[in-house]
Amino acid sequence: MKVSPLTVVKVGGSLLETAEDLSRVGNAVAARRASGERLLVVVSALQGVTDRLEQACQQVLDPRSGGELVREVMDSLKNQHEQAMVELADAETLRFRIQPVLDGVERLLTGIRLTGEVTERIHDLVLAHGERLSAPLVAAAIKTAGSDARDVTSEEVGIKARGPFGLGSCDLEATEEGLESIHHELHDRVLVLTGFYGVNRDGDIVLFGRGGTDYTAGMVAAGLDAASLELWKNVAGFLSADPLAVKDARHVEELSYDEACELGYYGARILHPRCLDPLREREISVSVRSIEAAEEMGTRLVPERTGDLSRVAALAVRHGVGVVRVQGAAMVNEPGVAGAIFKAVGDAGINIDVVATAMTSVSFTVSDEEVPLALRTLRLMQEEGVTGMEKIDVFRDAALVGVVGDGLSGDMGIASRIMERLAHEGVGVYLFSHGPGDVSLNCVVSKEDAALATQALHETFFATVQVGDEENGRGGESGGRAVTD
Ligand code: ASP
Ligand code: MG
Repeated sequence: MKVSPLTVVKVGGSLLETAEDLSRVGNAVAARRASGERLLVVVSALQGVTDRLEQACQQVLDPRSGGELVREVMDSLKNQHEQAMVELADAETLRFRIQPVLDGVERLLTGIRLTGEVTERIHDLVLAHGERLSAPLVAAAIKTAGSDARDVTSEEVGIKARGPFGLGSCDLEATEEGLESIHHELHDRVLVLTGFYGVNRDGDIVLFGRGGTDYTAGMVAAGLDAASLELWKNVAGFLSADPLAVKDARHVEELSYDEACELGYYGARILHPRCLDPLREREISVSVRSIEAAEEMGTRLVPERTGDLSRVAALAVRHGVGVVRVQGAAMVNEPGVAGAIFKAVGDAGINIDVVATAMTSVSFTVSDEEVPLALRTLRLMQEEGVTGMEKIDVFRDAALVGVVGDGLSGDMGIASRIMERLAHEGVGVYLFSHGPGDVSLNCVVSKEDAALATQALHETFFATVQVGDEENGRGGESGGRAVTD
């Protein structure tokens, strides 16, 4: 017997808001199932639910918050889910099924309120309830559309996690065993799995970081050795730039894994940056697409880009960046100054993104909120008399504009094209990095200049591509645009 191909579909929270949305997802999945595919659907929480749960964990810590606050949160969660399920067959049964999950949230929030404490463990547990609530709804939507479906939780399947709460990783090897147990059932029906979290060795829920449903989907696709992974979003795929900054941003047909990850690192919630990690060694076709355009490929993600390697794949922007610069003539003959600076900043818990060093200076970017702490840390070193630290400057409120494309660092002319264009526009560059990796070049500019810089660089690198893609060019996601789901 010929085994039908297995597809893992990730459905983001931005596609799960209204009753209409649920029907649309249900219909799309059922149509695919009807054509003979085996499908595992990995779901996020309904739109806004994870944020709401996160907020609630903080709000109930306020000693002035009373039991009403918990009630309010519970009412709004209950309403949202009930409204989303109005079109579904058997909504009554569904209501009974999700009530215990809601009760769980209520108990946890009450516990946090009464003890005035939320541990990381409890925080993760609270947030996982968003997916536990959405999975039964999505399974019901698929059934309503005429295909058999069943929802399963990460703990039932055995999605194993390790690492810190809030930002854990999936232990793929340990998870494979659990996946084996659902493999056969996929012949009979669609399974709907909760994304975003796994269970560690102690039996605790561990989140995979915000947007972690992508990551679950990547892991599961690898573990089940699926034929393809489709990430369904409320946009048609990736765009060549943030459409808010660049009006003629265009649809990107293909990105390499490295390029897609790099765009993810700029921080917009596009694609979980670790989503593709487990797929590198396997032949699984990956795409980011909208539901409506499910037939045509959105953006194809491939291990190695085909086509013109000197092409810029997309531009990305990260806002809220701060630049720190340490200067001192004595640095020239003093080994270890840069190392000492990075160590001190790292010990303070600050993450460094882009670095540029010269004989007498060391510059790097951190997130803007961390600038004061970085400055205090460095001043302390200065007071302790660390050699070579004569002058410390910071530039707040900057933006990181990234030019992303495989193999760009091998292109001798690219840096000059970027700098020339930015100079022509009168955009000052605080810091430029070229060469550390193969995938991107970074320019740090002021917040005010970020849109202009992006627009201008887009003209430089995309003007020659033929126009005519216009419809595809709208509504995609780019490195600079936050997509909440
Ligand atoms: N619901 C989680 C979040 O909002 C996970 C996800 O959507 O991927 O981050
Ligand atoms: Mg979400």
